[in-house]
Amino acid sequence: MFIKKKVELLILATLLVTCHGFTEQSHAGIADLKAKPQLQQAFESIIDEEQQNEADLIRLTEIPAPPFMEEERAKHFAAMLKASGADDVQIDSVGNVIATIKGSIGLKTVAVSAHLDTVFPPDTLIKVRREGNRLIAPGIGDNTRGLIMVNALMKAIRAAQIKMQANVLLVGTVGEEGLGDLRGVKHLFRDDAPGIDSFIAIDGSNPEKVVTSGVGSNRYRVTFTGPGGHSWRAFGHANPHHALGHAISFLDKIGPSVTDEGEKSAYNIGRIGGGTSINSIPFASWMEVDIRSGSRERLDKLDTVFKQAVQQALLTENSARKYGPELRVEIKKVGERPAAKGKTDFNLVQNMLEINDSFGYKTNLRAGSTDSSIPISKGIPAVTISRGGKGGEAHSLEEWWENDKGYEGIQIALLLLVAEAGLAE
Ligand SMILES: [Zn+2]
Repeated sequence: MFIKKKVELLILATLLVTCHGFTEQSHAGIADLKAKPQLQQAFESIIDEEQQNEADLIRLTEIPAPPFMEEERAKHFAAMLKASGADDVQIDSVGNVIATIKGSIGLKTVAVSAHLDTVFPPDTLIKVRREGNRLIAPGIGDNTRGLIMVNALMKAIRAAQIKMQANVLLVGTVGEEGLGDLRGVKHLFRDDAPGIDSFIAIDGSNPEKVVTSGVGSNRYRVTFTGPGGHSWRAFGHANPHHALGHAISFLDKIGPSVTDEGEKSAYNIGRIGGGTSINSIPFASWMEVDIRSGSRERLDKLDTVFKQAVQQALLTENSARKYGPELRVEIKKVGERPAAKGKTDFNLVQNMLEINDSFGYKTNLRAGSTDSSIPISKGIPAVTISRGGKGGEAHSLEEWWENDKGYEGIQIALLLLVAEAGLAE
């Protein structure tokens, strides 16, 4: 009875798939799909929109989106998607912008996303300047161009009246950078969320580099605290800044025992601060630390070594003090991204290889720290692909983006999306 039931279910499942003809584009079908009149029409419309896309890029770049302050840009991005023909655009409870395109069958959901936030603090002057073919401004490539690509997909889908079988979400996520800790994408994949079955993130500057694995990271804020005091009268008190210095020095001594071998791992002290004046022993000294690896095992080892360095520093500074209370240290975790290896035999990945090939690009599958890390860690097909064009100096004030065949990046993303969501007949 039980076995019979199982067989029946299996037949039913097979029928569901075949009756609707609902399958992702197979590896071999990419060339056929690319040649379809609708796709060709969409490809042309993408080229026609080049100038408008550039104007949109400049406009959106100049709306700042510092970590945890993405609302303004989110509103503009939502309006942009509406103007491009999206009829259902929402901003969810954490601030993600989500345009929903209902599928003809709707048994599965494919999301394409780019992150809204930049790494730049609110007081950064953001004015796009042009030098030759280059557009220069903080955040112009990473990831404002990614958002423009998502919007360009909406326009192309409408221009060529492309209908897909799966539901499609076009998304602008919050919190991809820095201490945002992927909170936007974590929300999309929270336990009680409506499911997303495959995920395409746009966030990279080289079309040949496709992210299919997640580099894991642990992020900490370490704070040494003590009594402080006058630099002259209280000389001999334990000094939090000195302890912090020891910690960095110890980490540099023992960190390489992990980072010099095996799969790549890395550590970085990104920010330090504390203290009140040049002639005061500080009450507190803090640093923000980022530890990374594509391998969970190496990440754990590096984590242990980092904590040892901090404890050793505390001990060293406390033993060196002449009098006064001991320093204390707090190691607070402020971010965690999973290290995860994605399967490369997913249709999504195989299609991406085929598509890149058809545009004359080689593909280098790699690990990265992007929005895709979350679906990858849950075993859901996910890739992070390039924003098209050329770019450089990301995360710096001199960041640039150049429209060198930028339309190709959009065409590649569209083809990948339609292959995954299935073209409705
Ligand atoms: Zn980015």
